[in-house]
Amino acid sequence: MKNTTPKEIDFNTSELTIDWKDGERSTFPLEMLRRRCPCAECRRIRATRPEHLVMKSRDIVLLSWSKMGFYGLKLNWSDGHDTGIYTYDFLRGAGDAGKEYPVAP
Ligand SMILES: [Zn+2]
Repeated sequence: MKNTTPKEIDFNTSELTIDWKDGERSTFPLEMLRRRCPCAECRRIRATRPEHLVMKSRDIVLLSWSKMGFYGLKLNWSDGHDTGIYTYDFLRGAGDAGKEYPVAP
């Protein structure tokens, strides 16, 4: 079981980086994170109109993040979208998977 406690979280206009407590680092392209947004609305869009999200995600940047308890991160995007909670379990798994990011549960 990998450690899923973040030590440092940082981001710029293209990537979010998490340094985990066990010393590993995961880097996530923002476009990927937005495309994989786990909120109910985005999951519905992915299921019915996947092209809609892909086009939109290119111009969207991250403004801020906040911790949700001990289990995940809430990301606040430049288009006002902030309902997706990315669990650390998902992020840790996605970072380790390299380019082949799993879909958020
Ligand atoms: Zn969403």
